[in-house]
Amino acid sequence: MVSSQLESRGIRDERVLNAMAKIPRHLFVDEWLRDRAYSDNPLPIGERQTISQPYIVALMTEALELQGHEKVLEIGTGSGYQAAVLAELADRVCSIERIASIASRARTLIESLDYFNVLIWVGDGTYGWREEAPFDAIIVTAGAPDVPKAYKEQLAVGGRLVIPVGDRHTQVLLRYTRLSEDIDDMKEEDLGGCRFVDLIGNHGWKQ
Ligand code: SAH
Repeated sequence: MVSSQLESRGIRDERVLNAMAKIPRHLFVDEWLRDRAYSDNPLPIGERQTISQPYIVALMTEALELQGHEKVLEIGTGSGYQAAVLAELADRVCSIERIASIASRARTLIESLDYFNVLIWVGDGTYGWREEAPFDAIIVTAGAPDVPKAYKEQLAVGGRLVIPVGDRHTQVLLRYTRLSEDIDDMKEEDLGGCRFVDLIGNHGWKQ
């Protein structure tokens, strides 16, 4: 998976590649999908949600440019796989999931793998997580109609936000870098097309 799907497509960050080589991705999918856990596509995780394609996880994680000291916010815990990758690369991970059954499964798995730096909370992640802000990095793993203001507000100056924005079928992956105290002072970069499940919430899509 690491050489044929990630390095071959230009993922260069050694820390990202090592983390994804180490984490047992097959544990993050149901037993009947285990032999496909390392294949080049997303997979269902129940409740009509998916674990992202390995390349997309790598691309988004690399774009956060983590060094190890960061506090990261993830929106959309899902299987917990992305949270495990972040736990390897940052100091603390705060992850929000709106579906309680999905969150509790991810929490049990993350704990069983001895990641003690991940906090999973059940709720509408379109508000961010004000009590834990500011964050050095924010990663949104569901597609949004636009960027919820809370993410810009809760991003530390110098921090990076990676978010898929578009309609309910296709999105572009955007990276924002906060340049100053002014929340509109952001550098925006287009990282390419992608396709995610909906970000559903008060500042996302309606159910
Ligand atoms: N990062 C996940 C993949 C996430 S799929 C992984 O590594 O497996 C997207 C997830 O976002 C789904 O589980 C969905 O329930 C969740 N989601 C959608 N809208 C949300 C919201 N407003 N707040 C929190 N989670 C949300």
